[in-house]
Amino acid sequence: MEKVEFVVVGAGLSGLATAMVLAEAGAEVLVVERGDYPGSKNVTGGRLYLGPIRSYLPDLWKDAPLERRVVKERLTMMAPESSITVELSSDRFRRPPYPSYTLLYAVFNRWFADQASERGALVIPGYKVDDLVVKDGRVVGIISSGDEIHANAVVAADGAHSFMAEKAGLRKPHAAKNFAVAIKEVIEFTPQVIEDRFALEDGEGTAQLFFGSLTKGIHGGGFLYTNLESLSLGLVLAIQDLMGKSGLEQNQGPPPVSPHDLFEAFKERSEIRPLIADGHTVEYSAHIIPKGGFRAISRLVTDGMLVVGDAAGFTLNMGVTVRGMDFALASGVLAARALLHAREQADFSSATLSYYKTLLKESFVWQDLKTFQYMPDFMANPRLYERYPSMACDLLEQMLWIGEQPKVKLSATILRTIRQNLLRVDVLRDLIRMRKI
Ligand SMILES: Cc1cc2nc3c(=O)[nH]c(=O)nc-3n(C[C@H](O)[C@H](O)[C@H](O)COP(=O)(O)OP(=O)(O)OC[C@H]3O[C@@H](n4cnc5c(N)ncnc54)[C@H](O)[C@@H]3O)c2cc1C
Repeated sequence: MEKVEFVVVGAGLSGLATAMVLAEAGAEVLVVERGDYPGSKNVTGGRLYLGPIRSYLPDLWKDAPLERRVVKERLTMMAPESSITVELSSDRFRRPPYPSYTLLYAVFNRWFADQASERGALVIPGYKVDDLVVKDGRVVGIISSGDEIHANAVVAADGAHSFMAEKAGLRKPHAAKNFAVAIKEVIEFTPQVIEDRFALEDGEGTAQLFFGSLTKGIHGGGFLYTNLESLSLGLVLAIQDLMGKSGLEQNQGPPPVSPHDLFEAFKERSEIRPLIADGHTVEYSAHIIPKGGFRAISRLVTDGMLVVGDAAGFTLNMGVTVRGMDFALASGVLAARALLHAREQADFSSATLSYYKTLLKESFVWQDLKTFQYMPDFMANPRLYERYPSMACDLLEQMLWIGEQPKVKLSATILRTIRQNLLRVDVLRDLIRMRKI
């Protein structure tokens, strides 16, 4: 049986950030990762908001293998045969310090793990943790293939499906309503093709989110991010809706839908097809994403253990922004600071480790999640995916269409749309709900 000061389980952003800060402070830290290399098992959409986290690891960003700085934001609302895209292109995004970048996890995490190793962390890939060692109600280590490694404290950075948080009694078994499943492809192009198709200059990038009929009434949406030499294209679907629509629960619903079929249909849309034409798919992945927000966060601390990143449920999808990486990284840094504080006291009880919660509550992680705690309820509204996008697209199409017949007044077209679609009790309820977000 080995003993080290700290064991971090999972070499995602959250685990590596924890390890880096601990190692920099001279602590002995072991990171174990089940994937063949750090980044091999991780999936993200691909857009990291640097604004909130730059100061957390200030030395990290200068040489980081980030892809493109995002200078264009696009939001596309889709009806079955039409769509409206709003584009924000701002010179503010073009001035340093750049607020956000696209990235490829398999590239970034490998590099990040090297940075942590250079500072003294021991990162061991190909090592799957099977269980916790718990003594007198306190986590004292991990077990892998029957071998035990003991530690003063263990960090659960094992991602959305965290078995560790459940095993340590910090949360109940997962509920489907708190998770989405995502499918993603990375499609290769030359930088020139990407810059031409998206009207970008060298090193600039676009982030585009999609919602509406692409998910066939299921809570979710699509994303497209431009990397240096590839596009990341994906579809996210609420698991509970998917189970219902697929008839996995007893509630019937329309014909079964498979995420793969929805994704293929998304790629065939006229808005996407020309953007990915002649591209070469080099990566296909799927992953779950916590979507319960603030009210689904697990308990964070027990004797001898802390929970960080997706394992704790730190993600926020607001429809116009998707965040998780910045929370993962910041929570990892804060967990490390709390562990160093506990190290000074030589006390790793939950009372001392609770300093992590204090630090989190003072940070943007907790405050943003709390401010938008009603977002998951708001986003679960099926009208956001069917009625409202169709209504907006139909209205604009009627206003812009010049056909054989004389046109009616614009005011009459607008009033008819309002009468048919908006003078309803459910719309009123949606408006009232909007006050909470
Ligand atoms: C499709 C998709 C799109 C997203 N888009 C964005 C986006 O654009 N912007 C954004 O900010 N966020 C986005 N997110 C969320 C973001 O990717 C996550 O919040 C973030 O990656 C979480 O990092 P993490 O380190 O907590 O977890 P992970 O990256 O999941 O890392 C967990 C690690 O633990 C390892 N592990 C698990 N169990 C064990 C075990 N038993 N033993 C050893 N190792 C184990 C795993 O192999 C993995 O490497 C997206 C997520 C998905 C899935």
